[in-house]
Amino acid sequence: MKKIIVIPGDGIGKEVTDSAVKVLKKIDEKFQIGLEFEYRDAGGTAYDKFGEPLPAETLDACKKADAVLFGAVGGKKWDNIDVDKRPEKALFGLRKGLGLFANLRPVKVYDALIDGSPLKPELVGGSDLLIVRELVGGIYFGERCESEIYNGVERAWDTEIYSVPEIERIAKLAFESAKIRRGKLTSVDKANVLASSRLWRRVVIELAKNFPEVELNHLYVDNAAMQLALNPKQFDVIVTSNMFGDILSDEAAVIGGSIGLMPSASIGELTSFYEPIHGSAPDIAGKNIANSMGTILSAAMLLRYSLNAEEAAKNIESAVDKTLADGYRTADIYQDGFKKIGTDEATEIICDRI
Ligand code: NAD
Repeated sequence: MKKIIVIPGDGIGKEVTDSAVKVLKKIDEKFQIGLEFEYRDAGGTAYDKFGEPLPAETLDACKKADAVLFGAVGGKKWDNIDVDKRPEKALFGLRKGLGLFANLRPVKVYDALIDGSPLKPELVGGSDLLIVRELVGGIYFGERCESEIYNGVERAWDTEIYSVPEIERIAKLAFESAKIRRGKLTSVDKANVLASSRLWRRVVIELAKNFPEVELNHLYVDNAAMQLALNPKQFDVIVTSNMFGDILSDEAAVIGGSIGLMPSASIGELTSFYEPIHGSAPDIAGKNIANSMGTILSAAMLLRYSLNAEEAAKNIESAVDKTLADGYRTADIYQDGFKKIGTDEATEIICDRI
């Protein structure tokens, strides 16, 4: 059996994970993977029950599982509680506890939704890329000083540090991802200015010798940001550091058109973690209107990266494709002339196409 811990969390987290679990159960009937689901609490819901946003029992269960499927956490109700008890702390605790060192964010422009993109259809049409972001190193985790007096003036500083093993680990994952996609990897750095970027580039070039089937190129981050808006179709897999990845993955998310459609995976040393990129959307929670496709596509990533079930993953992705191509739209992506559906109906329609 393959054990999946499901953490619905708060707000629409319950609706979107319910939907993704139904789709996974349908997939399991077809592919006989042997999926087993166990539910755990995290976020505001966990705080209400246990006084902790991440009960130790939840983290333990995740460590022992084959994969974790996560909804979202947060909401106004918990905005004013002690900072250490806030729902978002659950995410940091899970990232740290599971050693989630890489964040994978696919960005795909669906032909059926091309008019929803804020960029010109002829520019973004056919875009299908994957951003691989380093998640536990770099400037977000380096030594810092909030305030000091230097030469008579106040200043603050942060440091960007990367070691060879850290770069090798993330680059290897990116090369392997490129290998099962279209065989192209773009490494993004700022090697014209930063020493840490020069080491990054050197290590990536050295590792490329082990992946002769992958075509490697390098871009400075400022150019990469421009190229993402000018010609996103040129990219297959992008690998980059924590801070550059943070910025570029949000830029790339805009290309796709809707936040409700976007999945993500965080790859861990112990267990990997799958979640939609959106938050708990308290404004629409409980109304059966949330778009669960981002979570369903995260479940497809779970099959691909944690269970090595590529065919099953592709089956889910094409079922979502077909649902959109057949003209079904949840409220967030609805336009006149299409068939408006709620969360439950969307789930059934996707299951029917598996
Ligand atoms: P949000 O992503 O929850 O919502 C932003 C907007 O997008 C809202 O109008 C919402 O209705 C809409 N939206 C989001 N997901 C949708 C979906 N699946 N279908 C249809 N519409 C969708 O971001 P926010 O409003 O800034 O944050 C709300 C709460 O979520 C906050 O407490 C925040 O801290 C938390 N949050 C959690 C995560 C996470 O758990 N990973 C990520 C971001 C924000």
